[in-house]
Amino acid sequence: MTQVAVYNAGGGQLLHTVDLNHAIRMLVRRVARVREAVEDRTFGPYPLPRSLELVRWIYTQWVWEATGTPPVSRDNVLARDNYTCGYCGRTGTTWDHIVPKCQGGTSTWLNTVAACESCNGKKKGGRTPEQAGMRLQVTPFAPTMAQLLPKRRR
Ligand SMILES: [Zn+2]
Repeated sequence: MTQVAVYNAGGGQLLHTVDLNHAIRMLVRRVARVREAVEDRTFGPYPLPRSLELVRWIYTQWVWEATGTPPVSRDNVLARDNYTCGYCGRTGTTWDHIVPKCQGGTSTWLNTVAACESCNGKKKGGRTPEQAGMRLQVTPFAPTMAQLLPKRRR
């Protein structure tokens, strides 16, 4: 699904990204206008948005605080860890549950880490790093929205 960047009113500050359906709903509700459009493409009556700009400026400190800790997801964990495998340092494309789900591990910031397919799949499987004889080279942490957003690639 296409992601659309949402900028604060004035256009300078990237707030977050939303999927296309969400972007269109914002246009319909007139809370945002199209900032950049994909050339020669439309979505219903609207130019297909590449980015939106809010109609009313919002105080973003409030946004960070109101949003609190960003949700834990594969994409967010990859962004936090700079798309780098926490075990071998190669490119990470998956997220690993350090204590695996099958052993009661949960999807929290402190129990997840970016991992390459090789480390996550074959080597680690449903084991903890200790059980698999692997060393986690990073310390997972719960990022703030402000730390996370500039790193997100989608
Ligand atoms: Zn790896």
